[in-house]
Amino acid sequence: MAHTTTKATDLKTISYWLDTATPSGDYRHTTLPKHVDVVVVGAGFTGLSAALHVAKLGKSVAVVEANTVNWGASGRNGGMATTGLAIGFRKAIKRYGEERAIAYFREYNHAIELIEKLVTDNKLQVDYARSGKMGLAWKPEHFEGFKATAESLKRLVGQPVEIVPKSEIRREIGSDLYHGAMVDPLGAGLHVGNFGHELGRLALEAGATIHENAAVVDVKRLGRGYAHDVVTSRGTIRADKVIVGTSGYTGRPFGWMQRRVVPVGSYIIVTEPLPQAVVDELLPNRRMASDSKNFLYYFRITPDNRLLFGGRARFAISSPDSDLKSGEILKKAMAEVFPQLKNARVDYTWGGLVDISMDQMVHAGEHDGLFYSMNYSGHGVQMATWMGKVMADVVGGNSAANIWGELSNPAVPGHFGPPWFLPLAGAWYGLLDKVR
Ligand SMILES: Cc1cc2nc3c(=O)[nH]c(=O)nc-3n(C[C@H](O)[C@H](O)[C@H](O)COP(=O)(O)OP(=O)(O)OC[C@H]3O[C@@H](n4cnc5c(N)ncnc54)[C@H](O)[C@@H]3O)c2cc1C
Repeated sequence: MAHTTTKATDLKTISYWLDTATPSGDYRHTTLPKHVDVVVVGAGFTGLSAALHVAKLGKSVAVVEANTVNWGASGRNGGMATTGLAIGFRKAIKRYGEERAIAYFREYNHAIELIEKLVTDNKLQVDYARSGKMGLAWKPEHFEGFKATAESLKRLVGQPVEIVPKSEIRREIGSDLYHGAMVDPLGAGLHVGNFGHELGRLALEAGATIHENAAVVDVKRLGRGYAHDVVTSRGTIRADKVIVGTSGYTGRPFGWMQRRVVPVGSYIIVTEPLPQAVVDELLPNRRMASDSKNFLYYFRITPDNRLLFGGRARFAISSPDSDLKSGEILKKAMAEVFPQLKNARVDYTWGGLVDISMDQMVHAGEHDGLFYSMNYSGHGVQMATWMGKVMADVVGGNSAANIWGELSNPAVPGHFGPPWFLPLAGAWYGLLDKVR
């Protein structure tokens, strides 16, 4: 292959998705309304989907965003809308019992169906495809776990998962590193840069307004109900209700929520476009792949035939310097999984914050008069989109729409601001992965 080695100057340190997306508009100077039914904080998938669905209920809604549309995790992720819970189905059964585990699992199926419906109904150009999700076993015992999970998923949920033994793995991946795989054909991939911008456009067309460069610096509760004065860097909006969708970027004005989010850095590199024959060897079915390590790798083919390769790389907060270091680590990791790519040029490297919770479950509901949804724990492409709709239903009066509100939501002990504990957690999980 005539791949070239990356020179630092070739490398773009922004998200491939945002770099190749068409923004729906510029909302940095839009006039803030004085009073709306609902203010949504954050213009990621949670916020934009909430705004779209609140507007569809006939209510006035304004989205306020500290940066720009899709600036957060929604524009920086792997573009994988996958089935299943962050903790895995069997662990969910152990923790919550069969009935609740099935209900939680099915929410992810509903979430992908919502994305598919939005794409189909509105003819969105977001490269959406149900190419399937693939879990890859890092240790032999992980493959045994996959087999048990597949059996439970088929029997209890009717999920059409398939087990791929190591002897047949080459029909799914051009790598000999893994001990087998589990494939779920219901997983999907999409261009999340374009999806975020399209969600924004749909919200606007439904009647919402969007205000970028409008960081919420304070929320003043008016009485004991849900009304608040939402104070932003661009002015104040009075809102009858507020939905917070700030995920891994949740900060001070939302201290109660901030203490419940561990913002873990996740990093991604994207190669140059690859020849079709190479793509067909690496991931012949273009699955959304991730492995079973604690410091997991995840990868997929982009719509223009590049390999996107992501991982936690290091337990550090994303910054330009940190992203470059993580990119170097990921490049080595990519060559370990796919030796075919050891000389492939890397065109992009970036990072973002994943909003992990203590129990790695979604948390959504109402606290001190503020509605919120976050803690997607690395599975937010579909869930943020879905939970935006769910929270719109909740503020519209249907609190039963939110099945996650029943979960207890403890704060992370000792977490009052910057997450000092991440390097300690990282060292521990890294050690566990090395024992193979
Ligand atoms: C590198 C990476 C890879 C990932 N890969 C996947 C994947 O492949 N599949 C998957 O399902 N999930 C993945 N995730 C997780 C997924 O992207 C997120 O869970 C999801 O996008 C969260 O959406 P959100 O709208 O809740 O938050 P975000 O998209 O993070 O948006 C939050 C927004 O709130 C704004 N904000 C914060 N504070 C304020 C304030 N005070 N005032 C105004 N605005 C504020 C921020 O500027 C930000 O734009 C990944 C995440 C990362 C970082």
